[in-house]
Amino acid sequence: SEKIRPLIAGNWKMNGLSASLSEIALIAEGADAHSQRLDTLICPSATLLVAAGARTAGTSLAIGAQDCSSETHGAYTGDVSAAMVADSGARAVIVGHSERRQGRGETSADVKRKAERAVEAGLQAIICIGETEEEMLKGATQDVLLRQLQGSVPARSKSSSVVIAYEPVWAIGTGRTPSIDNIAGLHAFIRTSLIDLLGEEGRRMRILYGGSVKPDNATEIAGIEDVNGALVGGASLKASDFLAIVKSF
Ligand code: PEP
Repeated sequence: SEKIRPLIAGNWKMNGLSASLSEIALIAEGADAHSQRLDTLICPSATLLVAAGARTAGTSLAIGAQDCSSETHGAYTGDVSAAMVADSGARAVIVGHSERRQGRGETSADVKRKAERAVEAGLQAIICIGETEEEMLKGATQDVLLRQLQGSVPARSKSSSVVIAYEPVWAIGTGRTPSIDNIAGLHAFIRTSLIDLLGEEGRRMRILYGGSVKPDNATEIAGIEDVNGALVGGASLKASDFLAIVKSF
């Protein structure tokens, strides 16, 4: 099978002010050395998208948003549309992060509509899936992941504009990760499911692992078949940590 180009994406969550743009500039500088081999992306707050885009112009680091509306435009006070994200200069948007599924009650149907709006706007949609600890302990992980894939991934999605991020909810921000064998097994399961859903495009689609990826576990995770990059939360806030993870892939 042909090699899939990795993507290392950073999710800043609700962290970072204008002063943090210097950290983004450092990440861009460091990422350029690896741009032959992989893609890099940082997703800061919506308020920093324009400035982050300006600071990284001419570098290989892309900027993305952390969410977008499932509607195209209209009377949705406080929401940001996919077209607005694209207009800011951003190239990508995370949809269906567990902090929005669990924390904000988003359903897979909502996530699918967000991904559709993102792709229509010319953005890459990073669709997050993942089981809770309770679901994992019940042995329901594969059922949950399949249901989320079936419900959240738009029909006829292309590998050029859709990325899947597998993030076990219990591994996010906790310092806990599944075993290497578990990550390998679940990424293989997601690959098979994507091929069932999307055919050839599913074979080429990137599947990122997310959940407590750090410089000291990135090499092991990067070596797993069907792990085509990482979605990094906490360790993306510091250029030295994020770049150490980039180097591991
Ligand atoms: C995330 O929020 O997507 C994430 C993986 O966070 P962390 O790396 O901090 O676990």
